[in-house]
Amino acid sequence: MKLSDSVRSIKGVGEKAEKCLNKLNIYQVGDLLEHYPRGYDEWKPLQPIASLREGEVAAVEGSLLSRPQMRARGRLKVLTIMLQDQSGNIPVTWFNMPFLRNQLKMGMHYIMRGKVTRKNGRLVLEQPKIHTKQEFFRLVGKLSPIYPLTAGITNRAVTKAVEQALSDAEELLEYLPSDVRKRQGLIEYKKALRQIHFPANKEEMVQGRKRLVFDELFLYQLALAYIKKNGRVKSEHVLIEKEDGEAFLHSLPFSLTGAQEKVYREIMSDMTSGYVMNRLVQGDVGSGKTILAVLSLYQVVLNGGQGAFMVPTEVLASQHFLSLTALLEPYHVRIGLLTGSLTAKQKREAKNKIEDGEWEIVIGTHAMIQDDVRFKNLALVITDEQHRFGVKQRETLFQKGNEPHVLAMSATPIPRTLALILYGDMDLSVVDERPANRLPIKNCVVNTDYRPNAYRFMQKQIEEGHQIYIICPMVDASEDSELENVTIYTEELSEIFPPEVTIEALHGKMRPREKEDIMNRFSEGQIQILVSTTVIEVGIDVPNATVMMIENAERFGLAQLHQLRGRVGRGASQAYCIFMTGKESKDSKERLGVLAGSNDGFYIANEDLKMRGQGDLFGIRQSGDELFALADIFDDADILRQAGEEAKKITEDEITLLYKKNQRLKDRVERYLGRVTL
Ligand code: ADP
Ligand code: MG
Repeated sequence: MKLSDSVRSIKGVGEKAEKCLNKLNIYQVGDLLEHYPRGYDEWKPLQPIASLREGEVAAVEGSLLSRPQMRARGRLKVLTIMLQDQSGNIPVTWFNMPFLRNQLKMGMHYIMRGKVTRKNGRLVLEQPKIHTKQEFFRLVGKLSPIYPLTAGITNRAVTKAVEQALSDAEELLEYLPSDVRKRQGLIEYKKALRQIHFPANKEEMVQGRKRLVFDELFLYQLALAYIKKNGRVKSEHVLIEKEDGEAFLHSLPFSLTGAQEKVYREIMSDMTSGYVMNRLVQGDVGSGKTILAVLSLYQVVLNGGQGAFMVPTEVLASQHFLSLTALLEPYHVRIGLLTGSLTAKQKREAKNKIEDGEWEIVIGTHAMIQDDVRFKNLALVITDEQHRFGVKQRETLFQKGNEPHVLAMSATPIPRTLALILYGDMDLSVVDERPANRLPIKNCVVNTDYRPNAYRFMQKQIEEGHQIYIICPMVDASEDSELENVTIYTEELSEIFPPEVTIEALHGKMRPREKEDIMNRFSEGQIQILVSTTVIEVGIDVPNATVMMIENAERFGLAQLHQLRGRVGRGASQAYCIFMTGKESKDSKERLGVLAGSNDGFYIANEDLKMRGQGDLFGIRQSGDELFALADIFDDADILRQAGEEAKKITEDEITLLYKKNQRLKDRVERYLGRVTL
């Protein structure tokens, strides 16, 4: 079995599993091996009930104190039992699993493993799985991988497929030059893969991760060096600045900030220079990057070219589609939307309209980079929220045009030193000013006791006509908990707020249509409170929302919290952000303190970098940064610098030589870049 073989060639992976894996962007065996766990489930031994603490995932063994009780809570059915052991007892609840009532018998002993939470001041074991003794003792002491999933495939199935692939793949040979590996103290490739998927303990995981992170960052830099070596390319799409562009600019409901004007000039000077633009626009959340994209796209259309605007989520794509249509329709620009959730027929139509040039601007998710999407005359490629895309995706879209201009936009404020290594191939523009009508967001860090106050405050804001986001606790050990958390939370909220307050839930497991519908209703002000997972994080713009409350804020990275907070404070009204913490620790207090004290993304990024120690990392943080599968530029800043050093040691001439001698390394870089033939 080769890395480039289809996942179907893995024993046990059938047609249905293949479809699901494809949805996760896994097509080849190699993709599966690079589908790293997003965390690990640590199977700790049984605990006495009296020793349980809030927030942990724990296993207990006990018997029923009384018969199971069932009651309805909103649309949910809740089953409750009291479980006891020699040390004490605890209520245990399940949502929508009524069949358990007849399975649980008095007088029997059960092993249950689930999350310990606090409800009305008392600890509760929530939604535990019930295990046989045999099952449980086989797993104790192990770390089992938790993979990112999609509907239709279980964690168990992915685990099995990875196990099989690891034992059957032939090509997991070493490809790093041995002197590099020695200098950096890195373990072998195959061993590293094994250790990241199935570590025996934390040390193994950390060791495996270090090697793979290094690889990502090293290959990335070799790839950049290659692109750079090819130098600047003459552009086929030399733009002429058109007066109509000015007219459109003057018709906007606001005037550009100084920073927006400066960056727009930089973009125009690139696009009229005769060379291909390759520019990264960095700007804090809410600094107004979208309008820069719109202006650039409009110029391209005026010059007879097509523009592509690629965004990471469907929700964001449809939002951009609506706002661009509203802005550009009076100017007769033809705009289309291409996302993964279109029907086959709609997709075909969309592709035709793109191919014959009927659509002048195409907004879409990575459905746009599929093989059979062809543009008539693609002259400008824009990626929004660039940190969510890899170089490979940017390059693939680039390939669809004839040397189109490239503009990448990112709200991740990366400290300059790191940006220079990461985006070494691009020119950098910074939108370092916010629209003048904004009041700074007011922040507070509070614990869960404050929740009732927070709800009262929200009620007042709603009465004033504003809207609210609540970000729910993150997904934990169990696969379905994302959905449960959000729906349960929403149900509970609807008992607290009066019935005229419309509350809806939004989460990643919903179908794109439902998500879109809810987002549209929220934008139109029909929904007052939106309870969401982090799917809301990127780009969404609803200026009337004034309160953001983030539950379990301590579990997110600072950059992600800053992004989430950026969903409010986008209009003229005062906005508020409430960081709610479940577990208090000195470390999390300090980190959240930085956020509460500043709304400046660049300052926060620098503090974040200072605070994160290397080596203390366990598990894979949901950083929201998808430039790399594994590496986190903050946590791994040191490895990033090391990889930068190593890559620099290889001069441009040597790169060609190295590739000649080291075919495996060359294959790797090519695989990484997806398109470049070296
Ligand atoms: P981001 O940089 O986070 O992508 P957006 O482009 O979504 O920010 O802009 C945030 C909000 O600010 C939008 O509602 C947009 O219409 C508005 N906006 C953009 N530029 C200006 C400006 N110069 N003056 C006032 N409002 C602006
Ligand atoms: Mg944006």
